[in-house]
Amino acid sequence: MEKDAGVILAKTAGFCPGVKKAIDRVLELSQQGKHPIFTLGPLIHNAQVISMLEEKGIHAVKSLADIPAKEGVIVLRAHGITPELEAEVRAYGIEVIDATCPLVKNVHSVIEKHVGEGFTTVIVGDAGHAEVVGLQGYAGKDAFVVSGPEEAEQLPRLEKALVVAQTTQEEDVFEATAEVVRRKAGTVVVSNTICKPTRDRQRETVELAKSSDLVVIVGGKHSANTARLAALCRRLCPDTVHIETEEELDLDAVRSARSVAITAGASTPSWMTDRVLGRIREARKTGLRPALLDAAGQALELLINSCLYTAFGAFCLTYVCMRLQGCRLQWEPAALSGLFVLSLHLINRIGERGVGTLESRKLELLQKHKLPLTASALLSGLAAMGLAFALDLRTFLVVVLSWVVGALYPFRSLYNLQGFLDVPGSKDFATALGWGFVCAVVPGLHQGMVFSKANYLAVLFAILLVFVRSAMLGISAVHSDLIVGKENFYKALGERRTHAVLLAIQVLLSLLLVALLSMRWKTPLVVALLLANLYPIACLLFGYFRRTLKGFWAETLVDGQFLFFALLAWLSR
Ligand code: SF4
Repeated sequence: MEKDAGVILAKTAGFCPGVKKAIDRVLELSQQGKHPIFTLGPLIHNAQVISMLEEKGIHAVKSLADIPAKEGVIVLRAHGITPELEAEVRAYGIEVIDATCPLVKNVHSVIEKHVGEGFTTVIVGDAGHAEVVGLQGYAGKDAFVVSGPEEAEQLPRLEKALVVAQTTQEEDVFEATAEVVRRKAGTVVVSNTICKPTRDRQRETVELAKSSDLVVIVGGKHSANTARLAALCRRLCPDTVHIETEEELDLDAVRSARSVAITAGASTPSWMTDRVLGRIREARKTGLRPALLDAAGQALELLINSCLYTAFGAFCLTYVCMRLQGCRLQWEPAALSGLFVLSLHLINRIGERGVGTLESRKLELLQKHKLPLTASALLSGLAAMGLAFALDLRTFLVVVLSWVVGALYPFRSLYNLQGFLDVPGSKDFATALGWGFVCAVVPGLHQGMVFSKANYLAVLFAILLVFVRSAMLGISAVHSDLIVGKENFYKALGERRTHAVLLAIQVLLSLLLVALLSMRWKTPLVVALLLANLYPIACLLFGYFRRTLKGFWAETLVDGQFLFFALLAWLSR
């Protein structure tokens, strides 16, 4: 749980693993250019995300009749479907991708096994819900669907009964229903198929509801699991509201409650919950907080969301790289890299804008100030090229070429870059190469030091640091439920492997610096960098063992490492 002055955000709020996996799968297909893509029913009950998916050529259809051209790919969503419908889909003649959640598939096999042994299935769930319809398909015509113990009382006498749950069912309702079936049937097998993510979410929600004055449940009004969560909370905390967006908040109620808890259904992305959290925090701000602190917070947020902070990070890294390779210190290469990074980061942000691809505050800033931000992106790019020209023609040409390549990245779907995009973490590699080039190669190039050992060292240093930076921000994006594909290293490799690789890189960097120290090479600077390298290591360990940093805080801390490196390098002069 994330606590802040009487406001608690549930740790379990956000997409469940099944929904997340299904969304990832369709986005991967979209990146692979497999168009058109159809999902049998909407992937999630969220109008904004559905329209964003539509923009990417991913269409939700009600039935096969909606795909008369028989072209493209059809994706079976996380809820699963009946075996009959699956056979029909597979015989339809277009590629089928099964994104059914493995936990739902597990329920299918439990039912199949027991039906084979002559059991009648009793499903505790919502009749008509897509997942329940799928389960009924495996259970056969004799199956019963009951919403709770009251309906279970109406069941006829059964010889052999299997009781299973819709995966998002409420634990108490399931247990009470199973108890009724135990009384009414001869042999009874109870298989509690409520999935673990749902149980964790419900457990945390109950705790929150018991200790809060107001509970805010975020999620689609048509989402059954969100509605169930709201009903569960209402029994423990009468002041429970179910909202889809922050616009529906009753701000007077938010201000008067001593404690507010926020949670969300399995199909609600974290960035939607974060918007609600932001609005609640805003409404609950008291006059006790010094205005100066507020202004400082807002200024920092603006610096970060407008990429100026990141650009300053590039400036600082260039200073460190110049020191490492023993260049004459000049302000031009440092300013050039800051402007170059500012330009390309803004272009990427503008090019990839859209609901679910950017954190809400960044998206808001982009929507409100699109024109000035676009102008800043172009002007800073031009200024970087102007500085490069002032340095020398060779630098100018390579900077222009690299800028063009970087600026085309967000529009990669327009040209065939599939082979590159299939490389896990391609975005992180590309970012690291871009920064490595501008922060370490350019200063060396201008001073004729390129291809020297010291230049190689500076390039390697910059590339490794920026790769770790980019991957760490990728972890933050995934944990914020932002829509990213396998070009994100963390998404491609998973949690353990990513942390292991990133930590290994940082340890390698430290060993490299220790080796330089043993050679008595630029000792004060190397000691400073060795100490500074503890910063990214600490960020990684904190993210792994304590809490994943998200959004604003992730960028503040992660990009702050460059400022820290530069500060210690400066102190070591
Ligand atoms: S709620 Fe559970 S079973 Fe259903 S899709 Fe999500 S993780 Fe899978």
